[in-house]
Amino acid sequence: MDAIWPRVCWVCGSPAATGTNPLACEEHDLGPAMAAMRDGPRCGRCAGRLPPGIRSGLTCAACRLRGGSPSRGICAIDYRVAGAADWLLRFKHGARRDLAVPLAGILAAACVEADGWRADRLLVPVPLHPARRLERGYDQAAQLAAELEALGAGRRAPLLLRNRHTPAQGAPGAPARAANVRGAFAVRRPRGLARGVSVWLVDDVLTTGATAAACALALRRAGAREVGVLAVARAGGRPSTLARR
Ligand SMILES: [Zn+2]
Ligand SMILES: [Zn+2]
Repeated sequence: MDAIWPRVCWVCGSPAATGTNPLACEEHDLGPAMAAMRDGPRCGRCAGRLPPGIRSGLTCAACRLRGGSPSRGICAIDYRVAGAADWLLRFKHGARRDLAVPLAGILAAACVEADGWRADRLLVPVPLHPARRLERGYDQAAQLAAELEALGAGRRAPLLLRNRHTPAQGAPGAPARAANVRGAFAVRRPRGLARGVSVWLVDDVLTTGATAAACALALRRAGAREVGVLAVARAGGRPSTLARR
């Protein structure tokens, strides 16, 4: 079988270590980044770390202060753990659209673990501005939603549009994330499309949660009943010292 399907790392093509899921060399093994999502309490809304001793699933200070955050958050890996960033950077900026397959696989597994096996989840990709899509050749969140659907983890529901091209997050001179994305998203027509639905946003990386909150706000204003967020990786965020029930 190895001759037909050589065991090589998805990211770099080096021989894959045995027993990693998805296939990866030692350097790109996602096992430690998956384990890091479980090695301490996490916020139930944004999957950010909570201080030790707090029960997992409670709401962190950032989510409480922001309001408008999605009501649930599920992430598969911790972006800061060695090996994880290479996967996401190549997927997003390295023209490696094929990485959507294994990344959706680990996200689907995290969904099943957190929320059970459900094929009826409505998956709303966080939209990319058409200009950026053109430059990149594909839309990574839409790609992930398509792969999640192929795995039976939900149904695609592209309900959102991006109104404007926001400066890259973290770019010099970029406004604070929340201001940057405020009003950047709208629900597609016809009106009423989102009314009463319960949806999950899909994105590659969840950083401050400002983008997810702006999307959730647009969906709730259009009548969505509940908005959660699924992201492959959780980045950023120091343990919050203000978290409480
Ligand atoms: Zn590798
Ligand atoms: Zn939170």
